[in-house]
Order: sequence, then structure tokens, then C-alpha cells
Amino acid sequence: MSENLNAFRTEVRDWLAENCPEEMRTPMRSEKDACWGGRDFNFQSDAQRLWLERMGEKGWTAPAWPKEYGGGGLNRKQIKILKQEMARIKARGALYSFGINMLGPALLKYGNEEQKQQYLPPIVRGEIRWCQGYSEPNAGSDLADLQAPAVDMGDHYILNGSKIWTSYGDFGDWMFCLVRTDPDAPKHSGISFMLFDMQTPGISVKPIQLISGRSPFCEVFFKDVKIPKDQQVGELNNGWSIAKYLLTHEREMISWTGLSQTGTKSVGETAMDVIGGSDGKLDDAFLRADIAKFEVDEMAFALTIERARDEVKAGVSLGAVASWFKFFGTELNKQRYSLLMDISGSDALAWTGEASNDGKLARDWLRTKGNSIEGGTSEIQLNIVAKHILGLPG
Ligand SMILES: Cc1cc2nc3c(=O)[nH]c(=O)nc-3n(C[C@H](O)[C@H](O)[C@H](O)COP(=O)(O)OP(=O)(O)OC[C@H]3O[C@@H](n4cnc5c(N)ncnc54)[C@H](O)[C@@H]3O)c2cc1C
Repeated sequence: MSENLNAFRTEVRDWLAENCPEEMRTPMRSEKDACWGGRDFNFQSDAQRLWLERMGEKGWTAPAWPKEYGGGGLNRKQIKILKQEMARIKARGALYSFGINMLGPALLKYGNEEQKQQYLPPIVRGEIRWCQGYSEPNAGSDLADLQAPAVDMGDHYILNGSKIWTSYGDFGDWMFCLVRTDPDAPKHSGISFMLFDMQTPGISVKPIQLISGRSPFCEVFFKDVKIPKDQQVGELNNGWSIAKYLLTHEREMISWTGLSQTGTKSVGETAMDVIGGSDGKLDDAFLRADIAKFEVDEMAFALTIERARDEVKAGVSLGAVASWFKFFGTELNKQRYSLLMDISGSDALAWTGEASNDGKLARDWLRTKGNSIEGGTSEIQLNIVAKHILGLPG
């Protein structure tokens, strides 16, 4: 077995040496360097396009998915090796994708064979970019209160209503969406899960402009949108089960923000670079203690995630633990950026200009605040932990 793994490591190492472009072995300079794929993706360079094509072809953008759906078909140990080898050469992720981290797992569990064949391979190759239509103006934390009605018209549904806070709704090619199919049933029992092309007539998208000038999310309006019935996933009115399952994957994905990114310096190393110290120690003892505490928490969190992944592979369901991870990971990421802001002092407040890389640090720091809202707020995660892990009364 270990011989096989050694052979696999050699194979991965050789493949990466040959196929990962040099430019893709450097840290990302800004969020623009993240490759999201999709029909109209604006690649930053040929190297970025090539890296996606090669990884997608190999199925290594979704290494755990079965080969028959375009994935890598790798087992847990092989995936670990792939990650280690990518980290060793500081390779960037080839694809950032809600399709891989959210929709894909739900389709693998609830989709029918035709749907898996149709939707999964283009996700692996980064050809179709997905956005998430869950939240509505009056349904965020209380998501099951969503109202967007989809009315049965025989061989299709007609959807009306709207969604809000749809991340990258203006770049999404398709949406996975929760709709109300039975307005008379108890609220959790009248929801269905549907997929549709964002170019379907009747859909309009309005980016929400933030004070930072950016528009990471949108309002999406539906006016008599026709959804063929074969684009409904799972059983009619059983969308809530799919929604919850997908949310565990979304929460796990968001919790990764707590882990340090491949190729970036640790908080301690950054502090030594910026502030300096003597004998390999930061001069500021209070900051040193804060950083040490943070780095121990970060390490413990990384090991806990690693253990949980092994358990999932062995058939243990992550369930409510994803909420705990989401809470802890996003709080950890807030601490990381708070420390980085402290370390950089007034320089950290620069908002524009080349020296600050267009205020990257300040913008990233502000973005961490959103991590503890998206995918369900920290308060909601703590409610879930209290009820489903600690067994406290609801
Ligand atoms: C960066 C970002 C990206 C997002 N992307 C998407 C996306 O792509 N698709 C999508 O569908 N949605 C997305 N969202 C929306 C997100 O899921 C909601 O904002 C979130 O679920 C909270 O809902 P809300 O904004 O309606 O706040 P509310 O539900 O109105 O909550 C307001 C406050 O009340 C607290 N609260 C509410 N209920 C309780 C309770 N029972 N117990 C304790 N406290 C409570 C909340 O914690 C919060 O502090 C995104 C949000 C952000 C910030």
C-alpha cells in the first residue's frame, strides 16, 4: 500500500513539474488572480487558463469525485498527497467554484443519473460557473421562510419573486435555487431545489454596490421564468433536505478561511518582516503572545479539520460539526486579519495606490467580517451547536 502511495506521489510530482505553469507557482496578488471559470471568465493570463484546462482535464479540480463524472477518482490518502505536492511547489488552486464545493456534493447525493452526467463534468472543467439562490429579502437566518413561488404548469414550473445577496450573481452562468412549490404546507415541507440557466428569459440581475465600491453580490429578480421539470433536483417539496446538506458543505468551505493559504507567510513571519526583532523573537512581547496564541489555535484547527475529513471518508457524517467549524474558522480568520492590521500599523489603512496593492490588506480585513454572516451567521451556527452537538434545549 505505502509503495503504491509512494509511486502515486512520484507520479503527481512529475505531472505537476510538467504541467503547473511557473506563474501559477507564485502567490495570488489580488482576488482577480482567483480563477472562477465559467462561460465568460476573463482569464488574467494564458498560464491561468492553461492551469485550469490541465487540472480540469485530469479531474484534479474535484479530486474526490468519481471519474465517470469527470472527477479525479482519488481516495483520501491520494488527495492528501496531491495537496501536499501542490503546497510543496506553492501551486495556486486552479479553480474556485461553488459548483465543486456546494452544488456538486448535493448532486452526487440527490441528483439522478442524467443530472450527474449533465452537470458535474462541466463543473470539474470550470466551464459553467454557479451561483446560489437561497436568501430572500425576508428569509436569511430564517431561510425556510423563503417565498419565491414556482407554480406547476405540467411539464415545467413558472418562477416569480426574487433573491438577494447572491454572490457573483452577475457572473453566474447557472443558479441552484430554493423555491416554494407548496405555499400551504408547513414552511420546511413546501420547498424544492431547482437549477436554471441565468440567461433564461425573465431573469434580471442587479449588483448591490458596497461602500468599498465593489459589488460582490446581487439582487436577482424572476418574472415568469420557465423551468423545465427535469431541472428539479430530488423530490418535489423535499428541497429543504438538499438545502441543509448543501449548507454543511458550504459551511465547511467557508471554515477553510481559518486555515492559512498555501504560499502565504504566517502571521509570525509577517510580524518579523514588518516590525522586526532580535534573536528570532519579536520585540513586542504582548504582540508576540497574541500571535503565539493565534498560531496554536490555527494549528489545532487545521489538525481538527484534517481528522474530520478522515472521519467523513470513513463514512461519518459531518452534520452539525460543520457549523462549529464555520464558527471557529471564520472567527479565526477575523483574528488573523486583526493581527495583520495591528502589525502593519497606519500603513494598513491605505485604500488605494500601488504600494498598498490597492488597499488589499484593508479590503481583505473588511471582507473577513462577511465570512461570519454568509452561509448562516455566527449566532445561527452557535444555535445549531447548542442544539445538535451540546444537546441543549432549543
Ligand atoms: C459576503 C456574503 C455573501 C453572501 N452570499 C450569498 C449567496 O451567494 N447566496 C445567498 O442565498 N445568500 C448569500 N448571503 C446571505 C447570507 O446567507 C445572509 O446574509 C445570512 O444568512 C443572514 O441573513 P440576513 O442577512 O437576512 O440577516 P438576518 O437573518 O436578518 O439576521 C440579522 C441579525 O440577527 C441575528 N439573528 C437572526 N436570527 C437569530 C436567531 N434565531 N438567534 C440568534 N440571532 C439571530 C443574526 O445572527 C444577525 O446578526 C451572503 C451574505 C454575505 C455577507
